[in-house]
Amino acid sequence: SASSDEKDLVIIGGGVAGYVAAIKAGQEGLNVACIEKRGVLGGTCLNVGCIPSKSLLNNSHLYHQILHDTKNRGIEVGDVKLNLANLMKAKESSVNGLTKGIEFLFKKNGVEYIKGEGSFVNEHEIKVALNDGGETSVKGKNILIATGSEATPFPGLEIDEKRVITSTGALSLEKIPESMLVIGGGIIGLEMASVWSRLGTKVTVVEFLGQIGGPGMDTEVSKTIQKLLKKQGLEFKLNTKVLSGDASGEKVQLSVDSVKGGKEETLDAETVLVAIGRRPYTAGLGLENIGLETDERGRVTIDSEYRTKHPHIRSVGDVTFGPMLAHKAEEEAVAAIEHIKKGHGHVNYAAIPSVMYTHPEVAWVGQSEQDLKNQNIPYRVGTFPFSANSRAKTNLDTDGLVKMLADPETDRLLGVHIVGPNAGEMIAEGTLALEYGASSEDIARTCHAHPTLAEAFKEAAMATHGKAIHF
Ligand code: FAD
Ligand code: NAD
Repeated sequence: SASSDEKDLVIIGGGVAGYVAAIKAGQEGLNVACIEKRGVLGGTCLNVGCIPSKSLLNNSHLYHQILHDTKNRGIEVGDVKLNLANLMKAKESSVNGLTKGIEFLFKKNGVEYIKGEGSFVNEHEIKVALNDGGETSVKGKNILIATGSEATPFPGLEIDEKRVITSTGALSLEKIPESMLVIGGGIIGLEMASVWSRLGTKVTVVEFLGQIGGPGMDTEVSKTIQKLLKKQGLEFKLNTKVLSGDASGEKVQLSVDSVKGGKEETLDAETVLVAIGRRPYTAGLGLENIGLETDERGRVTIDSEYRTKHPHIRSVGDVTFGPMLAHKAEEEAVAAIEHIKKGHGHVNYAAIPSVMYTHPEVAWVGQSEQDLKNQNIPYRVGTFPFSANSRAKTNLDTDGLVKMLADPETDRLLGVHIVGPNAGEMIAEGTLALEYGASSEDIARTCHAHPTLAEAFKEAAMATHGKAIHF
């Protein structure tokens, strides 16, 4: 049993951070156990995050397109009906396939999977309250904290996941609400707003900042996507903060005010989605038993090698610093195992892409124009609109643009910002270019297949140091 031997590594949390670390550790020949309390591997991302949201986004987009965007393609469709229960089943089938796949990979790589809630007894021992009842304990030469994050609640609004929901509720509503207010116009807010708006809900997004998409999104890109989402029927209230909420009546009410003050009003809807960010999750972990403190935002404090103040206890993923993204968690997990096994490992935080899976998608990597301005870094801009791209034209999907930022002296790429069809796939090329220290000319002189959307990427690079051909 787990209690008798000491593992090389014990991982608490089986989300992307934890399960990737477990597989990598198994591959490196470490004797590893992973503790997960959810009953399923894959964490937030696979169960109530990235994967189910992309299923709903993809299929709601298809439905919306069949309703509104077929006639001009020469396709006439009859009665189109939505079967919400089956839409949800398709989502569950994608989720189940992937989570079972991880369980298989655990077996393949010799990872011991302990189903239960882990809690520090001391710096080397973790007790586990098993999901099936009873308790066990496990010791580790090394320990990895990968307990992830949870939705930040809105004070005074109790989450019931039916009328007042987080993303978790928004991924499994049983009926289409007539109206929805979204608190927070970040990525979760906009992805979930897109899903329900396409299915027929009247959605209003209330955002504290002057732009949607969160502060990391390039302002020009943010304005562009806001216009496009508005055309799809989303309503926005920017520079507006939600002061309080009340779910006691028939409708949920929010009292909001302009950021400058003096424009208080009450909004109401059948459903309110709280999407004001996520916070690190360490409840019940017993950090106090090993003298580990979290910072003012609840994050486990680590050094550049992911070590807490106890050097054999490391932490990666949403529970610690940096953007709360699955691929960031994955990179850190691999680097942390390399540190344990080889004494070195590295993540390039300057080249982590972000993608928002609306239609069209928004994707970026590197610095935004406002980042560069704020730091007084000189830059050159090249843009190329999808309306001038032949593949976008054949697809009748021409909204958006590619924007590139490069150093005016060296031409080194500084950032790429895309709003447009398939932006989330295209950004991989920008990330690779950034990682390799490419210049905009390097990209412009790389042959791209015709006709592809990626030619817009190449032509934006041409426009960065010279001129695009087709615009
Ligand atoms: P988590 O995935 O939260 O995993 C932590 C796991 O630890 C959980 O399963 C939890 O049950 C377990 N745990 C916690 N405490 C204990 C304990 N004491 N004992 C045992 N187990 C414990 N990111 C992207 O990159 N792309 C996307 O498209 C994307 N979409 C998202 C959509 C939504 C709606 C949400 C909410 C998030 C999305 N994210 C996306 C973010 C992504 O889900 C997270 O960045 C990622 O899941 C972080 O992985 P993690 O392993 O650090 O944490
Ligand atoms: P976020 O921090 O990105 O956005 C929250 C937004 O809410 C901000 O724009 C903020 O200004 C606003 N806000 C906060 N309080 C408010 C108030 N009282 N009134 C009005 N607006 C208010 O957080 P999120 O969208 O909840 O996402 C959480 C995390 O999950 C993020 O780190 C995100 O990167 C990750 N995620 C990623 C993806 C993806 O990669 N596609 C998808 C979903 C979630």
